[in-house]
Amino acid sequence: MTNITYRLPQEIKLNGTFPGEHSQQLAQRRADAVPAGVASTAPIYAQDADGGVILDVDGNSFVDLGSGIAVTSVGASAPRVVKAIQEASEHFTHTCFMVTPYEGYIAVAEKLNELTPGNFPKRSVLFNSGAEAVENAVKIARAATGRNAIIVFDHAYHGRTNLTMALTAKATPYKKGFGPFAPEIYRVPMSYPYRDGEELTGTQAAQRAIDIIEKQVGAEYIAAVLIEPIQGEGGFIVPAEGFLSNIAQWAKSKDIVFIADEVQAGFCRTGRWFASEYEGIEPDLITTAKGIAGGMPLSAVTGRAELFEKVQPGGLGGTYGGNPVACASALATIETMQEWNLNERALRIEQLIRQKLEPLVPELPILGQVRGRGAMMALEFVLDTNSQEPHPQAARDIASYCLERGVLILTCGTYGNVVRLLPPLTIPENLLEQALDILVEGIRSI
Ligand code: PMP
Repeated sequence: MTNITYRLPQEIKLNGTFPGEHSQQLAQRRADAVPAGVASTAPIYAQDADGGVILDVDGNSFVDLGSGIAVTSVGASAPRVVKAIQEASEHFTHTCFMVTPYEGYIAVAEKLNELTPGNFPKRSVLFNSGAEAVENAVKIARAATGRNAIIVFDHAYHGRTNLTMALTAKATPYKKGFGPFAPEIYRVPMSYPYRDGEELTGTQAAQRAIDIIEKQVGAEYIAAVLIEPIQGEGGFIVPAEGFLSNIAQWAKSKDIVFIADEVQAGFCRTGRWFASEYEGIEPDLITTAKGIAGGMPLSAVTGRAELFEKVQPGGLGGTYGGNPVACASALATIETMQEWNLNERALRIEQLIRQKLEPLVPELPILGQVRGRGAMMALEFVLDTNSQEPHPQAARDIASYCLERGVLILTCGTYGNVVRLLPPLTIPENLLEQALDILVEGIRSI
Protein backbone atom coordinates (compact mmCIF):
# COMPACT_ATOMS: atom_id res chain seq x y z
CA MET A 1 0.00 0.00 0.00
CA THR A 2 1.34 3.48 -0.90
CA ASN A 3 2.77 5.41 2.00
CA ILE A 4 1.00 8.71 2.49
CA THR A 5 2.65 11.59 4.31
CA TYR A 6 0.47 13.94 6.29
CA ARG A 7 0.65 17.63 7.11
CA LEU A 8 -1.24 17.34 10.42
CA PRO A 9 -0.50 14.83 13.21
CA GLN A 10 -2.87 11.90 12.72
CA GLU A 11 -4.09 11.68 16.28
CA ILE A 12 -6.95 12.29 18.68
CA LYS A 13 -6.23 15.29 20.87
CA LEU A 14 -8.78 16.77 23.25
CA ASN A 15 -8.09 19.85 25.36
CA GLY A 16 -10.75 19.74 28.05
CA THR A 17 -14.22 21.25 27.70
CA PHE A 18 -16.43 20.07 24.87
CA PRO A 19 -17.24 21.99 22.79
CA GLY A 20 -14.34 24.37 23.41
CA GLU A 21 -14.62 28.07 24.12
CA HIS A 22 -14.05 29.25 20.52
CA SER A 23 -16.57 26.79 19.14
CA GLN A 24 -19.09 28.03 21.71
CA GLN A 25 -18.50 31.63 20.66
CA LEU A 26 -19.02 30.74 17.00
CA ALA A 27 -22.20 28.85 17.92
CA GLN A 28 -23.56 32.05 19.48
CA ARG A 29 -22.70 34.15 16.42
CA ARG A 30 -24.18 31.50 14.20
CA ALA A 31 -27.47 31.47 16.11
CA ASP A 32 -27.87 35.18 15.32
CA ALA A 33 -26.82 34.92 11.68
CA VAL A 34 -27.75 31.48 10.31
CA PRO A 35 -31.23 29.90 10.44
CA ALA A 36 -31.73 26.72 12.45
CA GLY A 37 -32.98 25.04 9.25
CA VAL A 38 -29.32 24.38 8.42
CA ALA A 39 -28.38 21.91 11.14
CA SER A 40 -24.88 20.54 11.90
CA THR A 41 -23.93 17.13 13.27
CA ALA A 42 -21.14 18.39 15.54
CA PRO A 43 -20.96 21.49 17.76
CA ILE A 44 -17.27 21.89 16.92
CA TYR A 45 -16.08 24.41 14.30
CA ALA A 46 -13.40 23.36 11.82
CA GLN A 47 -10.08 25.10 11.38
CA ASP A 48 -7.97 22.59 9.49
CA ALA A 49 -8.24 19.05 8.12
CA ASP A 50 -5.88 16.52 6.57
CA GLY A 51 -5.87 12.75 6.03
CA GLY A 52 -8.05 11.25 8.75
CA VAL A 53 -8.32 14.23 11.11
CA ILE A 54 -10.26 17.47 11.54
CA LEU A 55 -8.78 20.14 13.81
CA ASP A 56 -11.25 22.47 15.51
CA VAL A 57 -10.89 26.13 16.47
CA ASP A 58 -9.91 25.14 20.02
CA GLY A 59 -6.99 22.97 18.89
CA ASN A 60 -8.83 19.66 19.37
CA SER A 61 -8.10 16.94 16.84
CA PHE A 62 -10.92 14.57 15.85
CA VAL A 63 -10.85 11.43 13.74
CA ASP A 64 -13.01 12.03 10.70
CA LEU A 65 -15.30 9.08 9.96
CA GLY A 66 -17.63 11.17 7.78
CA SER A 67 -15.49 12.82 5.05
CA GLY A 68 -17.96 15.72 4.95
CA ILE A 69 -20.63 13.19 3.87
CA ALA A 70 -18.50 11.05 1.56
CA VAL A 71 -16.74 13.92 -0.18
CA THR A 72 -13.11 14.11 0.94
CA SER A 73 -12.15 10.58 -0.07
CA VAL A 74 -8.61 11.78 -0.86
CA GLY A 75 -8.50 13.78 2.38
CA ALA A 76 -9.54 17.41 2.90
CA SER A 77 -6.22 18.89 1.75
CA ALA A 78 -4.51 16.30 -0.46
CA PRO A 79 -1.29 17.93 -1.78
CA ARG A 80 -1.93 17.35 -5.48
CA VAL A 81 -5.46 18.70 -5.16
CA VAL A 82 -4.39 21.80 -3.21
CA LYS A 83 -1.70 22.56 -5.79
CA ALA A 84 -4.10 22.11 -8.70
CA ILE A 85 -6.61 24.47 -7.10
CA GLN A 86 -3.90 27.07 -6.45
CA GLU A 87 -2.50 26.88 -9.96
CA ALA A 88 -5.87 26.95 -11.70
CA SER A 89 -7.10 29.92 -9.68
CA GLU A 90 -3.98 31.90 -10.55
CA HIS A 91 -5.08 31.80 -14.19
CA PHE A 92 -8.85 32.21 -14.12
CA THR A 93 -11.53 31.43 -11.56
CA HIS A 94 -14.40 31.55 -14.02
CA THR A 95 -15.33 32.39 -17.57
CA CYS A 96 -18.50 30.25 -17.80
CA PHE A 97 -18.22 27.20 -20.06
CA MET A 98 -21.34 28.39 -21.90
CA VAL A 99 -19.55 31.63 -22.80
CA THR A 100 -15.83 30.96 -23.23
CA PRO A 101 -15.12 27.24 -22.88
CA TYR A 102 -11.85 25.76 -21.58
CA GLU A 103 -9.92 22.48 -21.65
CA GLY A 104 -10.39 21.40 -17.99
CA TYR A 105 -14.12 20.78 -18.54
CA ILE A 106 -13.39 18.60 -21.57
CA ALA A 107 -10.66 16.69 -19.72
CA VAL A 108 -13.04 15.90 -16.83
CA ALA A 109 -15.71 14.75 -19.30
CA GLU A 110 -13.16 12.52 -21.04
CA LYS A 111 -12.12 10.99 -17.69
CA LEU A 112 -15.71 10.34 -16.69
CA ASN A 113 -16.48 8.74 -20.05
CA GLU A 114 -13.45 6.50 -19.61
CA LEU A 115 -13.92 5.53 -15.93
CA THR A 116 -17.68 4.87 -15.83
CA PRO A 117 -18.87 1.35 -16.64
CA GLY A 118 -19.91 0.55 -20.21
CA ASN A 119 -17.84 0.33 -23.33
CA PHE A 120 -20.01 2.51 -25.57
CA PRO A 121 -19.82 6.10 -26.83
CA LYS A 122 -20.53 8.45 -23.93
CA ARG A 123 -20.94 12.12 -23.14
CA SER A 124 -20.63 13.99 -19.83
CA VAL A 125 -22.10 17.30 -18.73
CA LEU A 126 -20.98 19.07 -15.56
CA PHE A 127 -22.92 20.80 -12.78
CA ASN A 128 -22.35 21.91 -9.19
CA SER A 129 -24.23 19.64 -6.80
CA GLY A 130 -25.54 16.12 -6.63
CA ALA A 131 -29.15 17.31 -6.75
CA GLU A 132 -28.45 19.34 -9.87
CA ALA A 133 -26.92 16.30 -11.57
CA VAL A 134 -29.95 14.17 -10.70
CA GLU A 135 -32.37 16.83 -11.98
CA ASN A 136 -30.48 16.99 -15.25
CA ALA A 137 -30.36 13.21 -15.63
CA VAL A 138 -34.16 13.27 -15.38
CA LYS A 139 -34.34 16.07 -17.98
CA ILE A 140 -32.11 14.10 -20.38
CA ALA A 141 -34.09 10.88 -19.90
CA ARG A 142 -37.39 12.68 -20.54
CA ALA A 143 -36.05 14.42 -23.64
CA ALA A 144 -34.57 11.17 -24.97
CA THR A 145 -37.70 9.06 -24.47
CA GLY A 146 -40.47 11.62 -24.88
CA ARG A 147 -42.02 10.11 -21.73
CA ASN A 148 -42.70 11.64 -18.30
CA ALA A 149 -42.82 9.11 -15.47
CA ILE A 150 -39.86 8.47 -13.20
CA ILE A 151 -39.56 5.39 -10.98
CA VAL A 152 -37.80 5.75 -7.61
CA PHE A 153 -37.46 3.50 -4.58
CA ASP A 154 -38.30 3.38 -0.90
CA HIS A 155 -35.49 4.87 1.25
CA ALA A 156 -34.10 6.81 -1.73
CA TYR A 157 -32.28 10.10 -1.32
CA HIS A 158 -31.61 12.27 -4.35
CA GLY A 159 -31.43 15.85 -3.01
CA ARG A 160 -33.25 18.89 -1.68
CA THR A 161 -34.34 20.87 -4.77
CA ASN A 162 -37.99 20.70 -5.76
CA LEU A 163 -37.69 17.83 -8.21
CA THR A 164 -35.19 15.90 -6.08
CA MET A 165 -37.34 16.34 -2.94
CA ALA A 166 -40.07 14.55 -4.88
CA LEU A 167 -37.58 11.81 -5.78
CA THR A 168 -36.40 11.51 -2.15
CA ALA A 169 -38.35 9.18 0.13
CA LYS A 170 -38.02 10.59 3.63
CA ALA A 171 -40.48 13.35 4.61
CA THR A 172 -38.83 14.70 7.77
CA PRO A 173 -36.62 16.67 7.63
CA TYR A 174 -36.24 16.82 3.84
CA LYS A 175 -39.78 17.52 2.59
CA LYS A 176 -41.98 18.55 5.49
CA GLY A 177 -43.65 21.89 4.74
CA PHE A 178 -41.90 22.33 1.38
CA GLY A 179 -44.52 21.05 -1.07
CA PRO A 180 -46.18 20.94 -3.55
CA PHE A 181 -43.81 18.51 -5.19
CA ALA A 182 -43.12 17.67 -8.82
CA PRO A 183 -45.58 15.21 -10.39
CA GLU A 184 -45.02 11.94 -12.29
CA ILE A 185 -42.78 10.36 -9.66
CA TYR A 186 -43.68 6.79 -8.64
CA ARG A 187 -42.12 4.99 -5.68
CA VAL A 188 -41.73 1.22 -5.44
CA PRO A 189 -40.21 -1.15 -2.84
CA MET A 190 -36.44 -1.42 -2.58
CA SER A 191 -34.55 -4.62 -1.87
CA TYR A 192 -33.57 -4.26 1.81
CA PRO A 193 -32.17 -7.68 2.75
CA TYR A 194 -32.08 -7.06 6.50
CA ARG A 195 -35.77 -6.13 6.60
CA ASP A 196 -37.03 -8.27 3.66
CA GLY A 197 -35.65 -11.42 5.27
CA GLU A 198 -33.14 -13.81 3.76
CA GLU A 199 -35.80 -15.74 1.87
CA LEU A 200 -36.57 -12.89 -0.57
CA THR A 201 -33.94 -13.09 -3.30
CA GLY A 202 -32.76 -10.12 -5.35
CA THR A 203 -34.63 -11.48 -8.37
CA GLN A 204 -37.85 -11.77 -6.37
CA ALA A 205 -37.43 -8.28 -4.90
CA ALA A 206 -36.93 -6.94 -8.44
CA GLN A 207 -40.06 -8.76 -9.62
CA ARG A 208 -42.02 -7.29 -6.69
CA ALA A 209 -41.02 -3.79 -7.85
CA ILE A 210 -41.58 -4.52 -11.56
CA ASP A 211 -45.09 -5.92 -10.90
CA ILE A 212 -46.06 -2.72 -9.13
CA ILE A 213 -44.53 -0.55 -11.85
CA GLU A 214 -46.30 -2.41 -14.64
CA LYS A 215 -49.66 -2.46 -12.85
CA GLN A 216 -49.66 1.05 -11.43
CA VAL A 217 -47.69 3.11 -13.96
CA GLY A 218 -47.29 1.24 -17.26
CA ALA A 219 -43.88 0.77 -18.84
CA GLU A 220 -44.75 2.80 -21.94
CA TYR A 221 -45.11 6.00 -19.87
CA ILE A 222 -41.81 5.65 -18.03
CA ALA A 223 -38.81 7.78 -18.96
CA ALA A 224 -36.41 6.46 -16.33
CA VAL A 225 -35.77 4.21 -13.38
CA LEU A 226 -33.56 6.10 -10.92
CA ILE A 227 -31.72 4.17 -8.21
CA GLU A 228 -28.72 4.42 -5.89
CA PRO A 229 -26.78 1.14 -6.36
CA ILE A 230 -26.11 1.34 -2.60
CA GLN A 231 -28.57 3.66 -0.91
CA GLY A 232 -26.84 6.37 1.08
CA GLU A 233 -28.99 8.57 3.33
CA GLY A 234 -31.65 5.81 3.43
CA GLY A 235 -29.33 3.61 5.50
CA PHE A 236 -26.48 2.25 3.38
CA ILE A 237 -28.78 -0.40 2.02
CA VAL A 238 -27.00 -2.88 -0.25
CA PRO A 239 -29.70 -4.58 -2.35
CA ALA A 240 -29.75 -8.36 -2.60
CA GLU A 241 -27.65 -9.78 -5.41
CA GLY A 242 -29.55 -9.77 -8.68
CA PHE A 243 -31.89 -6.93 -7.75
CA LEU A 244 -30.11 -4.21 -9.70
CA SER A 245 -29.32 -6.37 -12.70
CA ASN A 246 -32.92 -7.57 -13.01
CA ILE A 247 -34.30 -4.04 -12.79
CA ALA A 248 -31.71 -2.86 -15.35
CA GLN A 249 -32.54 -5.71 -17.75
CA TRP A 250 -36.26 -5.05 -17.46
CA ALA A 251 -35.71 -1.31 -18.07
CA LYS A 252 -33.66 -2.10 -21.18
CA SER A 253 -36.36 -4.38 -22.52
CA LYS A 254 -38.88 -1.51 -22.23
CA ASP A 255 -36.60 1.26 -23.58
CA ILE A 256 -36.58 2.90 -20.16
CA VAL A 257 -33.44 4.84 -19.20
CA PHE A 258 -31.65 3.24 -16.24
CA ILE A 259 -30.06 5.99 -14.12
CA ALA A 260 -27.61 5.04 -11.37
CA ASP A 261 -27.24 7.76 -8.76
CA GLU A 262 -23.62 7.23 -7.71
CA VAL A 263 -23.35 10.62 -6.01
CA GLN A 264 -22.46 9.00 -2.67
CA ALA A 265 -21.22 5.53 -3.70
CA GLY A 266 -19.06 6.57 -6.66
CA PHE A 267 -15.37 7.39 -6.99
CA CYS A 268 -13.59 4.62 -5.05
CA ARG A 269 -15.86 4.86 -2.00
CA THR A 270 -16.94 1.22 -2.26
CA GLY A 271 -13.60 -0.17 -3.43
CA ARG A 272 -14.49 0.18 -7.12
CA TRP A 273 -14.69 3.30 -9.22
CA PHE A 274 -18.47 2.87 -9.21
CA ALA A 275 -20.71 0.67 -7.05
CA SER A 276 -22.63 -0.39 -10.18
CA GLU A 277 -19.61 -2.51 -11.11
CA TYR A 278 -20.37 -4.99 -8.31
CA GLU A 279 -23.45 -6.16 -10.19
CA GLY A 280 -21.99 -5.76 -13.67
CA ILE A 281 -24.48 -2.97 -14.37
CA GLU A 282 -23.83 -0.56 -17.23
CA PRO A 283 -26.22 2.30 -16.45
CA ASP A 284 -27.53 4.40 -19.34
CA LEU A 285 -26.84 7.51 -17.23
CA ILE A 286 -24.73 7.90 -14.08
CA THR A 287 -24.86 10.87 -11.74
CA THR A 288 -21.70 11.70 -9.79
CA ALA A 289 -20.66 14.40 -7.31
CA LYS A 290 -19.16 14.34 -3.77
CA GLY A 291 -15.91 12.32 -4.10
CA ILE A 292 -15.29 13.52 -7.66
CA ALA A 293 -13.43 16.77 -6.88
CA GLY A 294 -11.77 16.51 -3.46
CA GLY A 295 -14.24 18.89 -1.84
CA MET A 296 -14.81 21.40 -4.63
CA PRO A 297 -18.41 21.70 -5.81
CA LEU A 298 -18.66 19.66 -8.99
CA SER A 299 -21.12 17.09 -10.27
CA ALA A 300 -21.80 15.33 -13.54
CA VAL A 301 -24.17 13.31 -15.66
CA THR A 302 -22.38 10.73 -17.80
CA GLY A 303 -24.03 8.33 -20.18
CA ARG A 304 -24.89 6.95 -23.58
CA ALA A 305 -24.09 9.51 -26.26
CA GLU A 306 -27.35 8.87 -28.12
CA LEU A 307 -29.46 9.87 -25.10
CA PHE A 308 -28.05 13.40 -25.25
CA GLU A 309 -28.89 13.82 -28.94
CA LYS A 310 -32.51 14.85 -28.36
CA VAL A 311 -31.53 17.68 -26.01
CA GLN A 312 -31.54 21.01 -27.84
CA PRO A 313 -28.38 23.18 -27.72
CA GLY A 314 -28.65 25.39 -24.65
CA GLY A 315 -30.98 22.93 -22.90
CA LEU A 316 -28.30 21.92 -20.39
CA GLY A 317 -25.88 24.06 -18.43
CA GLY A 318 -25.71 26.69 -15.71
CA THR A 319 -23.45 29.63 -14.84
CA TYR A 320 -21.02 27.72 -12.67
CA GLY A 321 -21.36 24.13 -13.96
CA GLY A 322 -17.87 22.70 -14.51
CA ASN A 323 -16.09 25.64 -12.91
CA PRO A 324 -12.42 25.64 -14.04
CA VAL A 325 -10.98 25.46 -10.51
CA ALA A 326 -13.35 22.60 -9.61
CA CYS A 327 -12.35 20.81 -12.85
CA ALA A 328 -8.64 21.15 -12.02
CA SER A 329 -9.41 19.79 -8.58
CA ALA A 330 -11.34 16.84 -10.06
CA LEU A 331 -8.46 15.90 -12.38
CA ALA A 332 -6.00 16.05 -9.46
CA THR A 333 -8.41 14.06 -7.28
CA ILE A 334 -8.68 11.30 -9.89
CA GLU A 335 -4.87 11.23 -10.26
CA THR A 336 -4.55 10.99 -6.47
CA MET A 337 -7.04 8.11 -6.38
CA GLN A 338 -4.98 6.30 -9.00
CA GLU A 339 -1.58 7.13 -7.51
CA TRP A 340 -2.55 6.09 -3.97
CA ASN A 341 -4.66 3.18 -5.17
CA LEU A 342 -7.63 4.27 -3.12
CA ASN A 343 -9.87 1.43 -4.29
CA GLU A 344 -7.50 -0.97 -2.57
CA ARG A 345 -7.51 1.22 0.54
CA ALA A 346 -11.32 1.27 0.60
CA LEU A 347 -11.35 -2.54 0.59
CA ARG A 348 -8.77 -2.63 3.40
CA ILE A 349 -10.96 -0.22 5.40
CA GLU A 350 -13.92 -2.57 4.92
CA GLN A 351 -11.80 -5.45 6.20
CA LEU A 352 -10.74 -3.54 9.33
CA ILE A 353 -14.31 -2.42 10.06
CA ARG A 354 -15.72 -5.92 9.60
CA GLN A 355 -13.01 -7.45 11.79
CA LYS A 356 -13.80 -5.11 14.68
CA LEU A 357 -17.57 -4.92 14.42
CA GLU A 358 -18.99 -8.15 12.99
CA PRO A 359 -18.10 -10.20 16.10
CA LEU A 360 -20.42 -7.91 18.09
CA VAL A 361 -23.54 -8.82 16.06
CA PRO A 362 -24.24 -12.24 17.67
CA GLU A 363 -23.23 -10.85 21.07
CA LEU A 364 -25.24 -7.60 21.23
CA PRO A 365 -29.00 -7.75 20.52
CA ILE A 366 -29.11 -4.02 19.62
CA LEU A 367 -26.69 -4.42 16.74
CA GLY A 368 -28.86 -5.79 13.95
CA GLN A 369 -26.44 -5.76 11.07
CA VAL A 370 -23.04 -4.61 9.83
CA ARG A 371 -23.23 -3.97 6.09
CA GLY A 372 -21.83 -2.00 3.20
CA ARG A 373 -18.98 -2.11 0.76
CA GLY A 374 -15.50 -0.65 1.01
CA ALA A 375 -15.39 2.52 3.06
CA MET A 376 -19.18 2.89 2.91
CA MET A 377 -20.12 0.77 5.92
CA ALA A 378 -23.06 0.93 8.29
CA LEU A 379 -24.34 -0.48 11.55
CA GLU A 380 -28.11 -0.82 11.95
CA PHE A 381 -29.39 -0.57 15.54
CA VAL A 382 -32.59 -2.23 16.72
CA LEU A 383 -34.40 -2.62 20.04
CA ASP A 384 -33.78 -6.33 19.75
CA THR A 385 -32.76 -8.69 16.99
CA ASN A 386 -36.12 -10.50 16.92
CA SER A 387 -38.46 -7.54 16.55
CA GLN A 388 -35.93 -5.58 14.42
CA GLU A 389 -37.68 -2.47 15.68
CA PRO A 390 -35.48 0.51 14.81
CA HIS A 391 -33.50 2.05 17.68
CA PRO A 392 -32.62 5.60 16.57
CA GLN A 393 -31.70 6.65 20.13
CA ALA A 394 -28.90 4.07 20.15
CA ALA A 395 -27.44 5.51 16.93
CA ARG A 396 -27.63 9.06 18.32
CA ASP A 397 -26.13 8.11 21.70
CA ILE A 398 -23.27 6.21 20.08
CA ALA A 399 -22.47 9.14 17.78
CA SER A 400 -22.42 11.51 20.81
CA TYR A 401 -20.28 9.10 22.83
CA CYS A 402 -17.75 8.93 20.02
CA LEU A 403 -17.68 12.67 19.35
CA GLU A 404 -16.98 13.47 23.00
CA ARG A 405 -14.03 11.09 22.80
CA GLY A 406 -12.66 12.56 19.58
CA VAL A 407 -14.35 10.53 16.82
CA LEU A 408 -16.73 12.21 14.39
CA ILE A 409 -19.39 9.77 13.22
CA LEU A 410 -22.56 10.33 11.17
CA THR A 411 -25.94 8.65 11.42
CA CYS A 412 -28.48 8.02 8.66
CA GLY A 413 -31.40 5.82 7.68
CA THR A 414 -35.11 6.16 7.06
CA TYR A 415 -35.56 5.32 10.75
CA GLY A 416 -32.48 7.28 11.90
CA ASN A 417 -31.12 4.08 13.43
CA VAL A 418 -28.00 3.62 11.33
CA VAL A 419 -24.45 4.66 12.19
CA ARG A 420 -22.49 5.11 8.99
CA LEU A 421 -18.75 4.96 8.56
CA LEU A 422 -17.32 7.01 5.69
CA PRO A 423 -13.69 7.70 6.56
CA PRO A 424 -11.40 9.46 4.12
CA LEU A 425 -9.72 6.66 2.16
CA THR A 426 -6.39 8.16 3.18
CA ILE A 427 -6.94 7.62 6.92
CA PRO A 428 -3.95 5.84 8.55
CA GLU A 429 -4.82 2.31 9.61
CA ASN A 430 -3.80 2.75 13.24
CA LEU A 431 -5.97 5.86 13.58
CA LEU A 432 -8.95 4.05 12.08
CA GLU A 433 -8.42 1.17 14.50
CA GLN A 434 -8.25 3.55 17.44
CA ALA A 435 -11.49 5.20 16.31
CA LEU A 436 -13.19 1.82 15.86
CA ASP A 437 -12.15 0.80 19.39
CA ILE A 438 -13.90 3.92 20.70
CA LEU A 439 -16.95 3.06 18.58
CA VAL A 440 -17.02 -0.47 20.03
CA GLU A 441 -16.83 0.99 23.57
CA GLY A 442 -19.68 3.33 22.64
CA ILE A 443 -21.85 0.46 21.39
CA ARG A 444 -21.13 -1.56 24.53
CA SER A 445 -22.01 1.44 26.70
CA ILE A 446 -25.64 1.41 25.44
N1 PMP B 1 -27.86 11.68 -4.49
C1 PMP B 1 -27.31 10.97 -3.49
C2 PMP B 1 -27.23 9.49 -3.61
C3 PMP B 1 -26.79 11.62 -2.37
O1 PMP B 1 -26.25 10.90 -1.37
C4 PMP B 1 -26.86 13.02 -2.30
C5 PMP B 1 -26.31 13.79 -1.12
N2 PMP B 1 -26.30 13.17 0.09
C6 PMP B 1 -27.45 13.71 -3.36
C7 PMP B 1 -27.93 13.01 -4.45
C8 PMP B 1 -27.56 15.21 -3.36
O2 PMP B 1 -26.31 15.78 -3.46
P1 PMP B 1 -26.07 17.32 -3.08
O3 PMP B 1 -26.22 17.42 -1.59
O4 PMP B 1 -24.68 17.60 -3.56
O5 PMP B 1 -27.09 18.09 -3.81
